[in-house]
Amino acid sequence: MALDCPPDSLFDSLIASGRGDRFDRHVFACAIVIGLAEAQGPLTEALGLSADALADLLDAYFPDARRLLPAARMGEHAGEDQIEEPDLRGLLLDHRSRNVTEEEWLAAIIARRSLCANHLWQDLGLFDRSELNALMERHFHGLKRLNSGDMKWKKFFYRQLCERDGVAICKAPTCDACADVGVCFGPEAGEPLSALRKSVLDIRQSQRAD
Ligand code: SF4
Repeated sequence: MALDCPPDSLFDSLIASGRGDRFDRHVFACAIVIGLAEAQGPLTEALGLSADALADLLDAYFPDARRLLPAARMGEHAGEDQIEEPDLRGLLLDHRSRNVTEEEWLAAIIARRSLCANHLWQDLGLFDRSELNALMERHFHGLKRLNSGDMKWKKFFYRQLCERDGVAICKAPTCDACADVGVCFGPEAGEPLSALRKSVLDIRQSQRAD
């Protein structure tokens, strides 16, 4: 089932009718919208959350969710983990800042969205990379500190997991001397996926009007 309204309208409605911490509400609304906008599958699977966890998140932050979100897209389970997901969730939870339930939801969401093809901030539906840095600082500040060189977040996570397992993936002893420095670091520039999808929707709507 497709979304009834454009992603930005859904985002605005979720934020306007939401409650709870402002920043966390923004992060969860972004994830929900991108999870629904990009695929036809269930939201639970897009976010790596069980149906109970998703229901708890919606109750905590979006009391109008049952009116705003398509019931047929909610889902019944988190779907099958990819091989690296449990380790990545564990890495995140080992570095959680506040020991709140939100960090369990975020660890699952970040681990699942890390499997997607774009920059992590884009795959989380965030507006720009600074929001992901703020999220990591707020909820996983141990990892934010460890990533003091501002490595690309997906690269950083997988490097951490390899180091934990004693697997050497680096091609040089230091980043300065490594040919892959451009692969591991860099601005992670790009448009928010929600903006790109809105452009596509606008083009489609104008084509229909022609
Ligand atoms: S730039 Fe090279 S040395 Fe640095 S993290 Fe990447 S692969 Fe490892």
